[in-house]
Amino acid sequence: MPIYEYVCSNCKLKFELLKAMSQSDEGATCPSCGRSAKRVLSLFSKSSDGSPSSSGGNSCSTCASDSCSSCSL
Ligand SMILES: [Zn+2]
Repeated sequence: MPIYEYVCSNCKLKFELLKAMSQSDEGATCPSCGRSAKRVLSLFSKSSDGSPSSSGGNSCSTCASDSCSSCSL
């Protein structure tokens, strides 16, 4: 099952949940305050906040993609 990341709209807590694909559109409940949390897209990676290219040294510096036609690594 994929891991989905959620952010609580109330206390801003960020947490991850294992969910089946069929349940991915459903909301989650914040484990801290019990309010509903919204799903955020995280590409299922374990990177920390704010750094889109945290892994690998092959990313294109201009497009932040692993492989693009302009840099063609
Ligand atoms: Zn919360």
